[in-house]
Amino acid sequence: MKYAQSIQRSKNISAATIVPTHVILHHTSGSYTGSVSWCLDPISKVSYHCIVARDGRRTVLAAPYARAWHAGKSSWQGCPDCNSYALGLAWEGDTYQNPLSEDAIASAAEYLRPILKDYKIPPANIIRHADVAPGRKDDCSPAAREALLSYLP
Ligand SMILES: [Zn+2]
Repeated sequence: MKYAQSIQRSKNISAATIVPTHVILHHTSGSYTGSVSWCLDPISKVSYHCIVARDGRRTVLAAPYARAWHAGKSSWQGCPDCNSYALGLAWEGDTYQNPLSEDAIASAAEYLRPILKDYKIPPANIIRHADVAPGRKDDCSPAAREALLSYLP
């Protein structure tokens, strides 16, 4: 593993588990450490599965099969409640204002590669929060998704 990965389990997940068939890409808008703290705080009732910093460090907050609370009210191709079938990955910052660093993309790819393989998730099933909650959410930038796909499988 090239990038440092810290594992800290968030309580902002459901008791029931999931079989992830999709990945939803987010950005945090805020800082890396602030976003990790927010996801670890039970008050927030939100958590991604993984947050990737601009320098490529990352924190894993939930196992891939955990139903983490990242997408909120959402729907994709007629299937509501994306948290029940999608893993959430977030990049630090605002991907519209600051294009992703190479380290941030490569680290996300490093984290996702074995998960995509294990769960047989095709690249087409890697989508953006904006895709599943249009009008409500705009993260992440289409360019960020394209950059990630160029690093996969
Ligand atoms: Zn989001």
